[in-house]
Amino acid sequence: MKKIVMLFALSAVFACASEKEETIDYTQMSDEERLKAATEIAQSTIMVDGHVDLPYRMKVGGFTLQREILDVSVRTPDGNFDYPRSKEGGLDAPFMSIYIPAGNQKTPGASKALADSLILMTERLAATFPDKFAMAYSTADIEANFSKGLISLPMGMENGAGIEDDLANVEYFHKRGIRYITLTHGTDNLIGDASYDTTGTHGGLSEFGKQVVAEMNRVGIMVDLSHVSDNTFRDALAITKVPVIASHSSVRKFTPGFERNMSDELIQAMAKNGGVMMINFGGTFIDSAYAAGATKVREHIVNWLAENNLSRRDSAAQAYIQEYSEKNNPFPTVQRVADHIDHVKNLVGIDYVGLGSDFDGVGDSLPTGLKDVSMYPNLIAELLKRGYSKEDIEKICYKNVFRVWRAVEEYSEMEK
Ligand SMILES: [Zn+2]
Repeated sequence: MKKIVMLFALSAVFACASEKEETIDYTQMSDEERLKAATEIAQSTIMVDGHVDLPYRMKVGGFTLQREILDVSVRTPDGNFDYPRSKEGGLDAPFMSIYIPAGNQKTPGASKALADSLILMTERLAATFPDKFAMAYSTADIEANFSKGLISLPMGMENGAGIEDDLANVEYFHKRGIRYITLTHGTDNLIGDASYDTTGTHGGLSEFGKQVVAEMNRVGIMVDLSHVSDNTFRDALAITKVPVIASHSSVRKFTPGFERNMSDELIQAMAKNGGVMMINFGGTFIDSAYAAGATKVREHIVNWLAENNLSRRDSAAQAYIQEYSEKNNPFPTVQRVADHIDHVKNLVGIDYVGLGSDFDGVGDSLPTGLKDVSMYPNLIAELLKRGYSKEDIEKICYKNVFRVWRAVEEYSEMEK
């Protein structure tokens, strides 16, 4: 009898504890309290970002990839990503983008060669700073690294051109650690049509592309449908046996006519597939007024530089460009990114949205309050203000993409 009473008492305590957890009303907090709560959540939760362009930032910076790397173990004056700022923002697993520009597609072998060198560079980064970074090839790796306080560096290949024309390269890249492949990039490739291209080479996914998707399912590489045309998107969804991702795409409703973002029809189709859409933070991805303004500003600056015989690198020009841009085309704010997350949540539910910043890949277009990897808490605070729960935030930060990744891992295990 006594034992039963004890059990009752204990379960009452647990019920209270979990109730308390669930009834935290973040909307009633002051902005300051809410940002503190958001920062605590960011620190205590695994945070995955679907797309960070650090490898390409290093390549553009002139680093020879296999031998030298940019020291991002310390705070860097440029760029959006480094170790100290990741720690501040609570970022734990940024997918390193192994980005192959479409220009490489013209030279057979050039796409695979670049992918290989960017992978080596990422491995070099982890090997050089083993107390800060670690490679990660599974959700379990990320969890283990997180418990040690290490930042995981999972890899996704942006542009299936790296596969060249050889299906065997899909398995090769899985062995090299690639865990998602973005089927296309800027132009149509051997796999399928791209959103930025109007040629319509294949009318969607090519025959080779269909084999690539099936092979990715078999070996356990996530299918990434950012950058593909709508037809390629639909074709890939019809073929894949497992959920897919969009590693860095936003909502087209806010950027009408911009096929690079996802239409409501595609968001619904992806949710039906059980996939996850990771929201891109770039200004031109989240706000069509900003995108139009950016085009106008760019035209004005080109003319102004020519008239004044100045180059973009001159300090006088830089000051003018900054002032002119800020005055004539103010950046969107962190609230705008939250609008995109809200839209997906309202359309299909909280289980299909994640973060895919495109940090280090979208230049000086990032929203105010979300300029680099230290600022995720500002976005979390905005979501809490809108009534999101801690569980909702955890889904956005990692649970949704982990669900997809695990399904891909499990399917592949069955197939092998
Ligand atoms: Zn991209």
